[in-house]
Amino acid sequence: MKQTRKERVLLSLAVLFLFLGVACGEKKIPETHAEKPSVEEVLKKEVKETNALLEQAKQLFDESEGAIKKDLSQTEIEKIKSALLANEKDVATISDDKHKGLVSDFEQSGKQISERLVKAEKMLVAQEKLNHLFTAEKALNGTEVSSEKLVLASGITTENLNEVKGEINALPSTSFSENARKLLSEAETQFSALTNAENAVKAAEEAKTDEQKFLNAQNLVNALVSEEYKVDLKNRLTPVQTQVAEKKKADEALRKQEEARQKAEAEAKAKAEEQAQAQALAQAQQEQQAQSNEQAQTVYVTPTGSKYHTHKCGNGTYSPTTLDEAQARGLTPCKKCFG
Ligand SMILES: [Zn+2]
Repeated sequence: MKQTRKERVLLSLAVLFLFLGVACGEKKIPETHAEKPSVEEVLKKEVKETNALLEQAKQLFDESEGAIKKDLSQTEIEKIKSALLANEKDVATISDDKHKGLVSDFEQSGKQISERLVKAEKMLVAQEKLNHLFTAEKALNGTEVSSEKLVLASGITTENLNEVKGEINALPSTSFSENARKLLSEAETQFSALTNAENAVKAAEEAKTDEQKFLNAQNLVNALVSEEYKVDLKNRLTPVQTQVAEKKKADEALRKQEEARQKAEAEAKAKAEEQAQAQALAQAQQEQQAQSNEQAQTVYVTPTGSKYHTHKCGNGTYSPTTLDEAQARGLTPCKKCFG
């Protein structure tokens, strides 16, 4: 029973060995040996292969920068993964205690490969998700940050940003994760600026004719990095701009109207004042006239009397004269006549 199983294993290993030999163009192995490679030989071969895989796995990332290799693809990781899996399957069929050391060597290499694959995969996933946030083909490529201007891709949501943040936060702190964090921060800044600009545009649209809101939105939109978003939001602001301009024009007309009204009012007031002044002047002149009229008033005097009268007052020779004249002669008003 045991014998047949061992034989079966050996046969399958022999087939594999033969296949590998043929595949490599290996013709040196003599026919007699090719049919029955020992378990030890097979295991040694598996260990050798796995060590080669480990070397490949080591190439997946830059140990010093903690970053994945430039232009690494998931396919490359998958290739090593499936090769390791195939070797593991082969070794799993060998249950020979005599070769514990070789199996252990194999397992150790396999473990190291798996660890490296997990690490590389984690970084690759974080890198790919991060790169999807930008329009550049590869914002981050291993240790390399794109020299291209980083522009937020369209359709990015808060969920996208949070997802990338989660991936990056799960990475160990290396210069790779540091670069990734910087890029994420750039994406977040642009996203936040975009959100603010969108909100400002919405507010301007709702306010319709508010110049301040329009200008605020315009400034935020102009400061955006993404031309695509900029164009969209600018297009939305165009009708707002027209409304604001119309409102401004109407306000200006109203202002001019009000100015004209105030000017007319001021003019009317000035005219009224002028009239009042003229009136006062006329009144003063009238009074002066009355006074001078009074001065020219006719009174009656006698040649010897010390008084002047309004009429022939009692006996005597009264003659008319002017009040001026009578006063000039030192005459005083008769108490009877002037009370
Ligand atoms: Zn008198």
